[in-house]
Amino acid sequence: MFTKQLFAIFGDPVSHSRSPLMHNCVFKNLNYPATYTRVHLKDGSKLKETFFALDLSGANITVPHKEAAFEACDAIRGFAQKVGVVNTIVNENGKLIGYNTDADGFMFAIKEFGAIKNVLILGAGGTAKALAARFLQDDIQVGIINRSQSRLPYFKELGCETFTWDSFKVSKYDLVVNTTSAGLKDEELPAPKNIINAVLENTSFVADAIYGKVTPFLKLAEEKNITYKDGADMLLGQGVLANELFVNSKLQKADISMFMQKSFEL
Ligand code: NDP
Repeated sequence: MFTKQLFAIFGDPVSHSRSPLMHNCVFKNLNYPATYTRVHLKDGSKLKETFFALDLSGANITVPHKEAAFEACDAIRGFAQKVGVVNTIVNENGKLIGYNTDADGFMFAIKEFGAIKNVLILGAGGTAKALAARFLQDDIQVGIINRSQSRLPYFKELGCETFTWDSFKVSKYDLVVNTTSAGLKDEELPAPKNIINAVLENTSFVADAIYGKVTPFLKLAEEKNITYKDGADMLLGQGVLANELFVNSKLQKADISMFMQKSFEL
């Protein structure tokens, strides 16, 4: 019997997400029998029951539920095992299998910056965990600065240098990445302005995980003539890898990538 599969993105907020457009563009143009929607989920502990209530074949998870998604899965594969953060779930015969495609998506996005040896990550949430572990895997030095202390011990144990706003000491960086949600729905900087000015004056490149807008952080980078990029290529990179998992390799990666890229022009 012909069944059309349903996929979704879970988040809070989620209305800004371009994932439905990206995945639907691939499904439609490659005649893959599936649709992708968005679900505004406030309570991360309800992820699993909502997933099954909607009879989903797979999902992406965005802020702030990626750690809850890890907990919701029956099994975890690949890089997600290392970081405890899941952004992609596939329904395999009623079992939820969790993956993380954010980290490799980000590495794809920063290829054009060339060799990176020293990174400062602003924020200590799910995205920061995935990126820190992925950088360390490539022997890239990682510093983390976060608004609050409680999430930092995890990163210290991983091998990062960690700071709160109060204890921060600036050094030289190849790349500074904003993984906080400051600037997503507001006009805030990810840290006090004196700290942001200091890090921007000591870095070659800047990236923001947020896409679809020039955040206050990126505006400051622009004012200082620093080469920067927003989160669009990271979004594309993670989306292509997630789509490959959703369609269980039934579509060619190059085709997925081409149509996903096209969706950015819509
Ligand atoms: P989490 O909720 O896991 O972590 C959020 C982090 O941001 C925490 O460290 C938190 O600090 C910090 N934070 C939140 N608000 C502020 C603020 N006003 N000032 C300073 N710090 C703040 O989020 P995720 O890691 O899942 O996502 C983070 C961002 O990355 C989101 O904007 C998301 O949209 C984006 N993203 C983009 C992707 C892409 O493909 N382009 C992929 C993944 C994420 P504290 O610990 O003190 O609360």
